[in-house]
Amino acid sequence: MSQQVSTPVSATATKEIVRESARRRTFAVISHPDAGKSTLTEALALHARVIGTAGATNGKENRRETVSDWMQMEKDRGISISSTALQFAYRDTVINLLDTPGHADFSEDTYRVLAAVDCAVMLVDAAKGLETQTMKLFEVCRARNLPIITVINKWDRPGLDPLALMDEITERTGLEPMPLTWAVGIAGDFRGVWDLQKDEYVHFERQNSGASLAKEEHFSPEDALAREGDVWTDSLDEAELVIDGREFDRNKFLDAKATPILFSSAALNFGVKQILDALVDLAPSASAREDKDGGLRPVEAPFSGFVFKVQAGMNKAHRDHVAFIRVCSGIFERGMVVTHSNTGKTFATKYAQHLFGREREVIDQAYPGDVVGLVNASALRVGDSLYVEEPVEYPPIPFFSPEHFRVARSQDPSRYKQFRRGIDQLEHEGIIQVLRSDRRGDQAPVLAAVGPMQFEVVEDRMTQDFNAPMRYEQLSYSLARLTTADAAEKLSNVHGAEVLVRTDGAFVAVFNDVWALRRVEKNHPDISLTVIGTES
Ligand code: GDP
Repeated sequence: MSQQVSTPVSATATKEIVRESARRRTFAVISHPDAGKSTLTEALALHARVIGTAGATNGKENRRETVSDWMQMEKDRGISISSTALQFAYRDTVINLLDTPGHADFSEDTYRVLAAVDCAVMLVDAAKGLETQTMKLFEVCRARNLPIITVINKWDRPGLDPLALMDEITERTGLEPMPLTWAVGIAGDFRGVWDLQKDEYVHFERQNSGASLAKEEHFSPEDALAREGDVWTDSLDEAELVIDGREFDRNKFLDAKATPILFSSAALNFGVKQILDALVDLAPSASAREDKDGGLRPVEAPFSGFVFKVQAGMNKAHRDHVAFIRVCSGIFERGMVVTHSNTGKTFATKYAQHLFGREREVIDQAYPGDVVGLVNASALRVGDSLYVEEPVEYPPIPFFSPEHFRVARSQDPSRYKQFRRGIDQLEHEGIIQVLRSDRRGDQAPVLAAVGPMQFEVVEDRMTQDFNAPMRYEQLSYSLARLTTADAAEKLSNVHGAEVLVRTDGAFVAVFNDVWALRRVEKNHPDISLTVIGTES
């Protein structure tokens, strides 16, 4: 049958896009290293039954290897550097979990991931409370007004008093805690949770290993009292102190004014299903996205998306370059010809993949909220927009204020060309920011990083991928501000300060420390100095 009238077809497509967008939950877990992010990621996947047995995907024994290790450095250090996207179906939703490297030193990449999600899960170690990296990431979420679900993890181990944790959350984040579940049993004696929505006691039974789901039993409050006695009533009393008669208010969560609270032990799979249910029931679905000019691009508009991450060298055998796109509207179909908003050029998306750790799958279709990895789309940079038919440009992803600065030099002057190409490429991938000045010359660019590990990645990649061994000279700067061209002259003789030019043409003033900055502010009130993006 040839149905040539386009309207009914597009009406069907519209319906499909709206339905699929409403099913998407795209989020990231923000946490301090060691709070249990990798463990929780696997526990969530286990619950969604993507991974039959956590820690034993495809028969691999090393849990770390199953999730997100690409680079040798990651393996050596046992930390994850690259962000990836894990997709799984749960109940009637499709969950996209974007991995954020937790290491404090590699945070710029993490921050960018937060531009691509609709919600964040803030994972807190019950024994440690809100740690530095959690707070930094929280600040980025706050700047983006992202709704945050808070999970108090490791409740199976001795930890802080739950009310003290709630106070800390209120004081340090300004978010009102709204318990969805409350731990029954003090930290270290995790028996189960009170599910406040269903008003029932969910008792968890420990399995021999974290590789299988914990057994859950549900009890009415009366039965819970009979079973747990004072431990049950203590739990109710505590939660009621926090709730203080207020109703659970989803809008406050969506407006980033309050945060739902859940308790878990990711290692024992306690309370993990409740986290998934909270994501499905409460977290925002993929919806209309604001463009650069403040207009809204509805999900049913033709395909569009933006690049939130670019990475090369993930697969030595393939030497590839992958641009990760968050789909914002329409249906992405592999092979479709898209326009790159920066250049106005079109290209075919032949090699579209879904990537998570070592796993790669060819993607044929993706909907708003999904992440697509475009292989060998080497013109794409972080922040670039792509579209079909109706042009759109999404807001740029902010630069993060660098705090570490080093001069890079080629070890072998005869390989300067390779050196230059490598530095340009790594900057293009967003691995490092590059600052230059006439005074320092082209041979000695200043590399600026949010965390010092970025320097190691650059050094490693320069040797491995560009055959351009390099060395560093330490600089004592630790602070940067955006400034204007005239500042270069005015600060040329000031100790502990210097003006450099970023590749996008922005003038960046760098300072030894906050005192050097204050001195300049005092002595040169005419110089404009503004904070760069988000200060980590
Ligand atoms: P990440 O750095 O945030 O990804 O943290 P990991 O998931 O690697 O966890 C750090 C350590 O804490 C590991 O030894 C985990 O086994 C352990 N861990 C994670 N979650 C829990 C938990 O809920 N309870 C206990 N007792 N240990 C946990």
